[in-house]
Amino acid sequence: VKGKAKKASKQAQAVNSAAVLGAGIMGGGIAYQSASKGTPIVMKDINQAALDLGLNEAAKLLTAQINRGRSTPAKMAGVLNNITSTLDYNALKQADVVVEAVVEHPKVKSTVLAEVEQVVGEEAIITSNTSTISINLLAKSLQKPGRFCGMHFFNPVHKMPLVEVIRGEHSSEETIASVVAYAAKMGKTPIVVNDCPGFFVNRVLFPYFAGFSGLLEDGADFAAIDKVMEKQFGWPMGPAYLLDVVGLDTGHHAQAVMAEGFPDRMAKQGKDAIDVMFEAERFGQKNGKGFYQYS
Ligand code: NAD
Repeated sequence: VKGKAKKASKQAQAVNSAAVLGAGIMGGGIAYQSASKGTPIVMKDINQAALDLGLNEAAKLLTAQINRGRSTPAKMAGVLNNITSTLDYNALKQADVVVEAVVEHPKVKSTVLAEVEQVVGEEAIITSNTSTISINLLAKSLQKPGRFCGMHFFNPVHKMPLVEVIRGEHSSEETIASVVAYAAKMGKTPIVVNDCPGFFVNRVLFPYFAGFSGLLEDGADFAAIDKVMEKQFGWPMGPAYLLDVVGLDTGHHAQAVMAEGFPDRMAKQGKDAIDVMFEAERFGQKNGKGFYQYS
């Protein structure tokens, strides 16, 4: 994969303007990151309230930078100027790269991707930030699947360095190279991976969560496990806290995708900790209660 990415880097298209579909947690973060690293970005959603939330989120991040002495009001205005929010597809016409970050639903994403292809230029690259949907499946909604690949950011976008660039079976080398270059321009560390359930990160994370669940079943205390992983093992957070940050609903869905994709390795018998938390509607930080209590 590394070799291919290197070879492809010779053919990267310049990315001078971008677009993101969806102004949610991820879309807002992607807009902020692109704008603050100098690539103007159009952020499109289907309702104004969502756009306002996305812009507010970017403004909050910029204000925090100023408060820490890492930015100035003039720079903040420049970054916000680089984000154009819109409800209109026509604003995507100039985009070199489009990142689709709408709700995690195959039909919605397929419809949106087909709509995007109708408005963008011949050379524009289209990507999806999907966490769990096959890139090859989404590529079917496009007339030119060679211009499409995955571009999977992690939450919070401004803090997490990694971006998985997911190569579908039809993704061209130029597409991959251009998306790698755009991720690097955004200050991220791209890795190129093939399309499979969980891509790279979830293939590592979910066996780890399975080990964590097994320990809980054997009577271990989640906070004690977190403490060891954080304080003694040196990871930034332990598994329980990480699941609270990711969201137990998101984790539950991703786990089901992994079990379906790798039945021999990932299928489990009975319910595990993620199932129990999900069924108790303890979704983590997003609703104030997960393994830990937040409100
Ligand atoms: P979110 O619910 O916060 O935001 C989704 C946004 O999409 C909403 O603002 C909604 O109005 C908008 N939307 C819905 N239909 C649309 C359409 N047809 N056109 C334009 N906008 C539309 O969701 P999110 O957490 O930002 O996730 C977005 C994508 O990113 C999903 O595919 C998700 O799997 C992926 N992802 C999420 C995370 C995470 O931790 N939240 C991490 C990595 C990837």
